[in-house]
Amino acid sequence: MDKLMIFISDESGDTGVPHSINASKLYTISYALVINKNPDSLKHLISSASSASKEALGTGLSEWKKLGKDNKNNPQKLHKFIQNFYTKMNENGELVLFGFYIVDKQEIEQNDGDSNNKKRIKDAADQGYYFILKRVLACMKKIHYEKGLYPSNGEPALKWIIDNNSKEFISRQKKIAQDFEKNMNVKIEGPEFISKKEKHSHYKVNAIKIVDLLGGIASKIFESYAICNTYCNSLDCFREANCDNKMFKVWEEILKCAMNQQIYLEEKDNIIWRWKGIQYYPALSRSKHDRFFTEDGFFSTLS
Ligand SMILES: [Zn+2]
Repeated sequence: MDKLMIFISDESGDTGVPHSINASKLYTISYALVINKNPDSLKHLISSASSASKEALGTGLSEWKKLGKDNKNNPQKLHKFIQNFYTKMNENGELVLFGFYIVDKQEIEQNDGDSNNKKRIKDAADQGYYFILKRVLACMKKIHYEKGLYPSNGEPALKWIIDNNSKEFISRQKKIAQDFEKNMNVKIEGPEFISKKEKHSHYKVNAIKIVDLLGGIASKIFESYAICNTYCNSLDCFREANCDNKMFKVWEEILKCAMNQQIYLEEKDNIIWRWKGIQYYPALSRSKHDRFFTEDGFFSTLS
């Protein structure tokens, strides 16, 4: 692998209206930014995830949907997986940032019919990669110029690996990459579309599986928090003094990926944004969940 940072992304959930049968309540884009400190960074990431999965979940690296209910519904096991995964990455000295863009479909719905709601949800999903790349590229430039990882290498460059999708989706993402190259003075190699079933580019398939798995875990946590029927039957567990929703612990663990990294943007000596790893849509409803998301200045500048 060359001296590029690597951006890996995947989507979960659908863009159907949330009250229809089998439709998801959330649409989530999950991603990882791999700061390639050495040529084997991506391989280290995959081996860390694989062995953490074997230890904590009793199975090799798997997509979320194939994980099995006894793992999916077990916060202790999920917590252990994240913990082991990060520990192994740290041992290898790797720096990987994870992030999520969550579209809360129920908060977007209005009382003017399904077709309008479908359009709103689709638009929110479509905007996801703009929001994400704006954040990821800002972070990448910061690391590139300030941490001096590639002093001799010219402009910051990113390789983008993404799961395969419809023709419409593919052309949209290509357009987004081109627009950002022009507007942010960065190089984006790709996006390269990888099918999770593909065998020949094995390590890329596994890289996608990692973000797929984390996306599944993040959606699971958010859903268990929005409608907590396991622990307290509340619509807002964080305000429920007696709620002992164990999924929160998993979330805190996921956020730790950026806790020890000083990744932030400054303006006139004020830190205006620090990497926290989550974006939520619609932004106006975000304050309902402020204890879940915590303060994030970068986000508010986007809304
Ligand atoms: Zn609860």
